[in-house]
Amino acid sequence: MDKDMQSEAISAWGQKGDIEKALMVGIHGVTEFKHDEKVYYLGEFKENMIIQLSQKQVAQAAIYPEVIRALKDKRATKMIIDGSMSSRYIEKYKKLATKMNKPYIVRSDPEFKGATGLLVISDEAVERQVITVEDRSVRLKRLGMSSALINAVGKKICKKCFEQILKIDPKESPNYNELTFLDRIGGERCPAHQVTK
Ligand SMILES: [Zn+2]
Repeated sequence: MDKDMQSEAISAWGQKGDIEKALMVGIHGVTEFKHDEKVYYLGEFKENMIIQLSQKQVAQAAIYPEVIRALKDKRATKMIIDGSMSSRYIEKYKKLATKMNKPYIVRSDPEFKGATGLLVISDEAVERQVITVEDRSVRLKRLGMSSALINAVGKKICKKCFEQILKIDPKESPNYNELTFLDRIGGERCPAHQVTK
């Protein structure tokens, strides 16, 4: 654009009314708006999301079964993990993605805002209304699981407790191990069963 045309364009802009300006920003400012949205979702578009975990949820010892379900979704193309989180929290999800043959990206950006810890996304718009996940302790408590059992994630539990998990939510069973015969002989006790209410 030469100087004259540029000044003409500027003066033309100056003659436009506020409503017209707002409309033009509405059309041309979409990119900017999307950028603002993306900083809350680890650099991704919200419409492409299948599921979102908060940093707090990622930091919990259990793997959310909802993430496994999302990775099984045919539309799911990859997992994005917030790189500002400790590797001891995100390692289990990196392993999970690898196991399920889905690529993952650990992404850090000082511009990121909010508390998104992990996303499973699609390459195209999914437009899910609800992408957040209910906290597992809240959900399992509602389903009737004792706090002791909810918190015994990753520990070895007795057969009775394991059966309770299978009854309440079988998808939670990978988060637990069952005490073996040898464990019991060795004196190991179920941390959940002892304190069940
Ligand atoms: Zn038990």
